[in-house]
Amino acid sequence: MSGLISRLRRKTRHAQQLKKINFNDCRPALLPQALLSSTYWRLFSRGQWRKLFNFTRAEVSRFLGSENCGGRPYFLSVEPVNYCNLKCPLCSIGYLPSRDTLDFGLYKRMLEQLGPYVARMELYKRGEPLLHPQIIPMLELAASYGIETTVATNLNVLPAGGARALAKSGVNVLIVSLDGATQETYQKYRVGGRLETVLENTRELARARKELGRKTPFILMQYVVFRHNEHELDEAVKLARDCGADQLMFKPAFIPDDKKEMEAWAPLNREFVPGSGHIVEDGSCAWPWGGLNVFADATVSLCYVDEKCRWPLKDMLDSGFRDWNGALERAARRAIISRETGNCGACGDAPCGACRAFGRTNFWI
Ligand code: SF4
Ligand code: SF4
Repeated sequence: MSGLISRLRRKTRHAQQLKKINFNDCRPALLPQALLSSTYWRLFSRGQWRKLFNFTRAEVSRFLGSENCGGRPYFLSVEPVNYCNLKCPLCSIGYLPSRDTLDFGLYKRMLEQLGPYVARMELYKRGEPLLHPQIIPMLELAASYGIETTVATNLNVLPAGGARALAKSGVNVLIVSLDGATQETYQKYRVGGRLETVLENTRELARARKELGRKTPFILMQYVVFRHNEHELDEAVKLARDCGADQLMFKPAFIPDDKKEMEAWAPLNREFVPGSGHIVEDGSCAWPWGGLNVFADATVSLCYVDEKCRWPLKDMLDSGFRDWNGALERAARRAIISRETGNCGACGDAPCGACRAFGRTNFWI
């Protein structure tokens, strides 16, 4: 019981660091809190029985601590490309060995097999997702399976077909980076970006959405608070409201655990304590029961923390996702179960036994 209480306290503390400002009458079904609490209701109210049944089976397996999962992944984290048009100083893409674009044929095969079961999908990770030449067909295909999608973008670019195609694609939530209220401040982190382009593209998108009479995408502007931009928060509120965003979220930065980096980037305002390499153990991890992580180079892993243990997506597809209950997945589940009961180390080759992000990377659906 005390473990549960401290878990809830940490969750609350984390939530307090995210300051959100709503501009419009935000549709409750699109707010993360509502998403978190109403997964069953949303799937039920849409008559998505197969997804609901699958979600229940996976969650029951997790609840019972079973190393075999009765369901298939209900959450996908997909990386369309791993390159970008900007050069943000703390971004990891500069260290990647190759520039990859996720093959659309493999993506399509994946949705043929998993689409009926998946409730939510994030189409972003490292890189700018709107640079994928088929990002609009990818979003349309997901929508045709009734999957809710989120894309995070720097919005210095628009896909082929422009803002109208994006508004029509069926994407549910668009997270737009706005890390400064003047060009001078914005470009200190978003190196190579133009603030006016971001604002203009957001305006166009809000306009297209209105013309089409659609409620989506929900436009969530995200402001990562650094030392160099913490004095422009009030200005950012005005900019985000004026360009048609639905919500602005101020968020702590994720800064490497290094004194020099901290001094350079960490804000003085302690409201936005930056995340660092030191992760506190907290909660549990749902990834091996419910999530799957797909990289742009067509490999898959347990979660987005795990960079080492990867399988080719094609093998997973050829086997009809039999590996979902293969040796590695089972070892990961075993490690998580034993870790929760205080008996770490029974993890075989899976990385979970020593994972420092344990409990901090859970997805919400
Ligand atoms: S916009 Fe995103 S993906 Fe691109 S360099 Fe910046 S942090 Fe990395
Ligand atoms: S415990 Fe860590 S490595 Fe294992 S699935 Fe969860 S986040 Fe990934």
